[in-house]
Amino acid sequence: MNRETEIPPIAPGLFSLPPGQGEPNLLGGYCAACDRRFFPRPKYCPVCLEPASEEGLGSRGTLYSYTVVRTRPPLGLPQPYGVGYVDLAGSGLRIFCLLDPDAIERYRIGLPVRLAVDVLGHDGRGAPRLRPYFTPVGQEEEGPQ
Ligand SMILES: [Zn+2]
Repeated sequence: MNRETEIPPIAPGLFSLPPGQGEPNLLGGYCAACDRRFFPRPKYCPVCLEPASEEGLGSRGTLYSYTVVRTRPPLGLPQPYGVGYVDLAGSGLRIFCLLDPDAIERYRIGLPVRLAVDVLGHDGRGAPRLRPYFTPVGQEEEGPQ
């Protein structure tokens, strides 16, 4: 990914990008009053209505389920593209998210994935935007756990 780009994210508060080559961090919400986490971050906890603070949710997870969308894509997404549910490591959250459109042939249930952020599609006005998506952990990274 080219981090020198000035291309803005599709929405604020979805991820943070460390300088250099560090992994992006998915951002969600945490309610201290009822010890629940959410993605994306709500302003207020939907369970108890207390304010939800921003919390990093990490960058690693496991693909729980997925599908490949082959119909005409919205917002400049590639055709086909993938979406799925990822079980995030650590937080216990299962989130609905975009999957790497260049790795469709590698999707399988239980696949270790990591967060990536790159220019993917555009906004409603046709301007390119950064989007977070999950990509298979490279075979060189899987190794023994
Ligand atoms: Zn709450």
